[in-house]
Amino acid sequence: MEFPSSIRKTKSREIVWKILHDSDAPLTAREIAQRAAELASAPSEEKKEKAVWLSSVYRALDAFEKEHLVTKSFLADNAESIYAPASTGHHHYAICINCKKRTELEACPFADEHALHTKDSDFMVVGHKVEVFGYCKDCRGKMER
Ligand SMILES: [Zn+2]
Ligand SMILES: [Zn+2]
Repeated sequence: MEFPSSIRKTKSREIVWKILHDSDAPLTAREIAQRAAELASAPSEEKKEKAVWLSSVYRALDAFEKEHLVTKSFLADNAESIYAPASTGHHHYAICINCKKRTELEACPFADEHALHTKDSDFMVVGHKVEVFGYCKDCRGKMER
């Protein structure tokens, strides 16, 4: 995926962009910073501390989000958001209570617009979160033993 021409290209934005598109699952800013620190540790690159990366990652994600290039979703059980390229559409996740593994839902439960009509007809809905939690296959396997 080419870096978008709509925003100014910087080294850290470029790296965040690449990490988001190389990943087949959405990532938290912390996970992106972790990968960025690993990528940047190539000999030719200046090695940055993870903490430095985290603030660069947040700034890059902010810039992408303003241009609607990434989507931000919220996880039910913690304050961290997860990010995915906007080109992949919008997603919801089920979270394993035990290991926090994320599994994508087959479809948005609000795909039918009527599900989002409120009793107060003046209310304007601009977004939604879906909370789904349970136990993943691995954790269920461990519990049964
Ligand atoms: Zn699990
Ligand atoms: Zn949805």
